[in-house]
Amino acid sequence: MSRRTPPLVPRLRPHAESVFAEMSRLALEVGAVNLGQGFPDTDGPLQLKEVAIAAINDGRGNQYPPGTGILELRQAIAVHQDRFYGISLDPQTDVVVTTGASEAIAATLIALVDAGDEVVMFEPWFDIYAAAISIANGKRVGVPMSGPELRPDIDALRAAISPKTRMIILNSPHNPTGVIFTREELQAVATIAIENDILVLSDEAYEHLWFDEHEHIPISTLPSMFERTITVGSGGKSFSFTGWKVGWASGPRDLIAAVRAARQHLSFVSGGPFQYAMAYGLGLPDQYYRELRTDLALKRDLLCGGLEELGFGVIRPEGTYFATTDVRPLGYTDGMTFCRELPHKAGVVAIPHAVFCDDPEAGRPYVRWAFCKRTEVLREALDRLRAGLS
Ligand SMILES: *Cc1c(COP(=O)(O)O)cnc(C)c1O
Repeated sequence: MSRRTPPLVPRLRPHAESVFAEMSRLALEVGAVNLGQGFPDTDGPLQLKEVAIAAINDGRGNQYPPGTGILELRQAIAVHQDRFYGISLDPQTDVVVTTGASEAIAATLIALVDAGDEVVMFEPWFDIYAAAISIANGKRVGVPMSGPELRPDIDALRAAISPKTRMIILNSPHNPTGVIFTREELQAVATIAIENDILVLSDEAYEHLWFDEHEHIPISTLPSMFERTITVGSGGKSFSFTGWKVGWASGPRDLIAAVRAARQHLSFVSGGPFQYAMAYGLGLPDQYYRELRTDLALKRDLLCGGLEELGFGVIRPEGTYFATTDVRPLGYTDGMTFCRELPHKAGVVAIPHAVFCDDPEAGRPYVRWAFCKRTEVLREALDRLRAGLS
């Protein structure tokens, strides 16, 4: 029998296999503690569940909600952006609700990147950017995060800009490194975007997950940046309901009109009752946001302290719920090999940075660990690592 050509179009073939699926399968097979995939193992606030349940029971959002999102949520997003960042938005024109931040990102790229346009992003990058750029028929251009602390390489960014550069994707707080861009770094990116008339997609899914003094700054608040920036938020990440898939994009009306145009032909609408819950969540008092950070910071310290004791080179995250380690002090040269052996050796799953990079050298020694897990789960993982790695 003759073999058929693979049916998947060539531009999507590099994105067909996900290491998350491979590692989660492995985790199940060997009963490993899964610190690979980044979702919390406890739910967000009870009140949000009650609002969603009440909406379902009252018949609010059970049929197609408005394509741009229910007005209550668009208003809550506008109020939230003003409350935390002093950004002023018109909920009628400057906001669109999406099926998670993922769809906001996909719709932005599909709407604003044309065939052959270049999209520059810092490497390692969140995997959906690469796939969505391919779907949009654009070309991705990686720029390294470099040095021992994996900071954004601004000179490399400047050098990567060409007449074909249409967009820069920024992600701060940054997955997988946990780096939060400083005001100076953001200003340097902004200057490059302005001088070259480039759009910025700012993925702020982890906007509320920052630690110590590393407060999150939206790049759209820098001078002359609002007009060229699409800002993306994630209800799943901010309220620990990743399964609800409610996200949003906001920005100037012409850019949001474009995102809305693409988005209506993707999922059209989504998550009606959950949108009411997210509107409620965005209005929670400061105490909610503070406790979310305090709780995560303790988990960060627990995991990072344990990994340091085990001899890893730990890059202590400034934000997100991921920690990055260098495996070289443990005698490994390659994070991929380390992660493939780890479930068998120690019964723990982590993710190699290599899967977030085009340049195989860049991510080679680094491994990402999720710490959005119950304290006893993190302790169990560390116990297993102590037993399995020594
Ligand atoms: C999780 C994540 C997203 C996607 O968020 P959803 O709301 O679940 O679609 C986007 N960007 C980054 C960096 C993420 O880690």
